[in-house]
Amino acid sequence: MTETSKAPITPYKAAFQLTTILKVFNAAHASVRFPVDVVTVAEHCHEFFHWDDAIEKVVGADIENFEGCLARIDDDRGWALIFNESIQSSGRRRFTQAHELGHYVLHRSLRSLFECTSEDMDDWQSEDRRMESEADVFAANLLMPLDDFREQISGSVDFSQLRLCAQRYDVSLTAAALRWVSASDKKLVLVASNDGFVRWSSSSDAAFKAGAFLRSRRDTVEIPADSLTADQTVARELDGVSVPAKIWFPNARPGTKVREMKIDSEQYGALTLLELPSTDDVWAPWSAE
Ligand SMILES: [Zn+2]
Repeated sequence: MTETSKAPITPYKAAFQLTTILKVFNAAHASVRFPVDVVTVAEHCHEFFHWDDAIEKVVGADIENFEGCLARIDDDRGWALIFNESIQSSGRRRFTQAHELGHYVLHRSLRSLFECTSEDMDDWQSEDRRMESEADVFAANLLMPLDDFREQISGSVDFSQLRLCAQRYDVSLTAAALRWVSASDKKLVLVASNDGFVRWSSSSDAAFKAGAFLRSRRDTVEIPADSLTADQTVARELDGVSVPAKIWFPNARPGTKVREMKIDSEQYGALTLLELPSTDDVWAPWSAE
């Protein structure tokens, strides 16, 4: 353990180490493995890694502009993990706590204060952006270990299964869906939209390589008028319906279909999941930009 604590630690590796320890602990005490008890993990994390500067307290506070923060206290001998107590959803609160724990594990030698929002700030320096995304990866890996997640999804993914996963891990449906999309070898695109416009989207690696992504970071992207997502008469379609891929991806061949699933999410308006057939791309390879 001493050796690994000195080596540069990646969010994947750090979360995996904690997951391995938790697995052994839960088996030995016959305790429930999920949802992961983030607060207890945070309070004992320094013991796992043999560090002197513990997280001395995990507290809710009124920190209006932030979701959470991690700050040195006690003459720099320890840390306080603070989360916004006005966050109602336990899933969001837990993700915030795990995110701050990620800063503690990964970045605490770099700063003495981390103040985090859920928004992606335009004026962030690339260093901030990197640390924020690493803390998110850590949190997702700690709360939703992939070995267990894979056991929960049988056949093609759908929102019914993802909702059960969100309950199992006590995370938001959005966090569970993002986790699955980032890990899946299927061609999946997750789209969050509000009032007919894409708020953000995330493609699996396979989907990205197939040309299935939306440029919502750069441009304003409208939800396609013929899509299920745009259909106001359908509040939710958990298992998905087959629609022409061209609706979402204009370069798709006419015969190509996507499975489109949709659900109202607590936080983002509509959440849409698209699955392309594994054999189809939505651009011709030579036209790749
Ligand atoms: Zn952060």
